[in-house]
Amino acid sequence: MSTCAIPEGSLFDMTVQMFNRAADCLHLDEGYRKIMTTCQRELVVNFPVVMDDGRIEVFTGYRVQHNTSRGPAKGGIRFHPHVSLDDVRALAMLMTFKCAVVKIPYGGAKGGVTCHPASLSRRELERLTRRYASEISILLGPEEDIPAPDVGTNARVMAWLMDTYSMHRGYTVPGVVTGKPLEVGGSAGREEATGRGVFVTILEACRVKGIDIKNARAAVQGTGNVGGTVARLLQQEGCRVVALSKSDGGVYNPHGLDVNDVLTYVQQNRTLQGYPQGEAISNCDLLELDCNILVPAAIENQLLAGNAPRIKAQIVAEGANGPTTPEADAILTDRGILVIPDILCNAGGVTVSYFEWVQSRDAYFWTEREVNARLKRIMTDSFQEVLHTAQKYNVSMRQAAYILAIERVRAAYELRGIYP
Ligand code: NAD
Repeated sequence: MSTCAIPEGSLFDMTVQMFNRAADCLHLDEGYRKIMTTCQRELVVNFPVVMDDGRIEVFTGYRVQHNTSRGPAKGGIRFHPHVSLDDVRALAMLMTFKCAVVKIPYGGAKGGVTCHPASLSRRELERLTRRYASEISILLGPEEDIPAPDVGTNARVMAWLMDTYSMHRGYTVPGVVTGKPLEVGGSAGREEATGRGVFVTILEACRVKGIDIKNARAAVQGTGNVGGTVARLLQQEGCRVVALSKSDGGVYNPHGLDVNDVLTYVQQNRTLQGYPQGEAISNCDLLELDCNILVPAAIENQLLAGNAPRIKAQIVAEGANGPTTPEADAILTDRGILVIPDILCNAGGVTVSYFEWVQSRDAYFWTEREVNARLKRIMTDSFQEVLHTAQKYNVSMRQAAYILAIERVRAAYELRGIYP
C-alpha cells in the first residue's frame, strides 16, 4: 500500500477553485466572485498564557468572518498545531456556503489557536481558552458571531468561552456559543449532530448507488466527535466498520470492528496503537481500503491527486472539512464515485447549532427526538435538492452544492443591496 502524497495547494486556494467551478456554471458576475472569495473581517491575536510551571507562553489565535450577508457569523473554533490564517479563512468560507446549502440563516466564520491541546493541562487549556475568548470578544455576540466546537475543542471549551464572554457583559449570554453542555443551555443531540447528519446523507447516497447498508463495509478516518459518531451509527444500522483511525494511525479488521470497544480504547489510551482486535494501519492506507463507504472525518487534504485513482469506495462522505483537493475531486467524480461534499455532508453540526441558538433565545428546550427528527428532515431535503441540482446542471454533487449556496448568497446581496 501507498503513502499519502503532498497536497496541491493551500486550503484557501483549493476552496476558491471549488467555488470557481460552480461560479463558472452560473456565469457568476465578477463583482460577486470578488465578494465571495474575500473574507469580510480577519482578527489575529497574540496572547500570553501562564503555564503550570510559571513560564509564560505566547500563542497565536484567529477569528475570521467570511461573509455575513445571510445572518450572523457562525463557525467552529479549532485548537490544533497546524492552525494558520489561510486555513481559518478557507474554513470560514466553507461555513458561509454550508449554512446556505442547508438554508440556515447564518453567515460563515471560523477561529482557532495554534496549539497542541493534548499537551496542555486542564488548567492551561482553560486559561488559554479564556484569554483567547477575551481577545476575540470584540467580534463575538449572539447577533454578531457565534462560535462552536471543532477539532481539538469540545462542550467544556464552549462553556469557558460562554462564561468569559458573559463575565465581560455582567450577565449570562447562552446564545453567544453553541455546542455547550446541556447544563448551561446546550441542545439535546448537538454532541452527535454532525456525525448523525453525515450518517443521514450516507443513507441517501446508498439509495442512489443501490447499496444495502446492512451488507456494506465502511472505513472511517478519525475517532473524534464526527468520526466516532458516524462509525457508531453505521454499525447500529448493520454496516460493517472495517477501519477507524486517530492522528497516529488506525486499526483494520476485515470482519468488522466493535466500534464502541474501539472508542473506549481511544478514550483510555489516547491512541489506537496496541488495539488488540485488528491490525495496525496508517491513515493513508485506510483511505484506499476495499470498502463501499469511505468517511474522511479527521482533517483536510486527505484525498489527493496521488491517491484518488486508488480509492475503492463507491461513496465518499466528507465528515471533515476540505478532505478532498480539487484534482482528487475531479478524479473521483470521473471514476463514478459519489462524493457527498463537506458543505452538505457535515452540515448537521451547524444545523443543530442553529437549533441550540433558537432554543437559547427562547429559553425553551426541545427533546432529543424533536431535534433529531428536524435534523433528519433538513439533511434529507438538502441532499435531495443538491442531487436534483447535480442532475439539472449535469455536474458533481460538490458543484451542485456550491451552485445552490452561491445562488442563495447572491440573492441576499441582490435583495439587501450593497451598502451604502
Ligand atoms: P475531534 O477533535 O473530535 O476529532 C478529530 C479526529 O481527527 C481525532 O480522531 C484525531 O486523532 C484525528 N486527527 C487529527 N489530526 C489528524 C491527522 N493529521 N491525520 C489523521 N487524523 C487526525 O474533531 P471533530 O469535531 O470530530 O472534527 C473532525 C472534522 O470534522 C474536522 O475537519 C472538522 O472541521 C469537521 N467538522 C466538525 C464539526 C463538529 O461539530 N465537531 C462540524 C462540521 C465539521
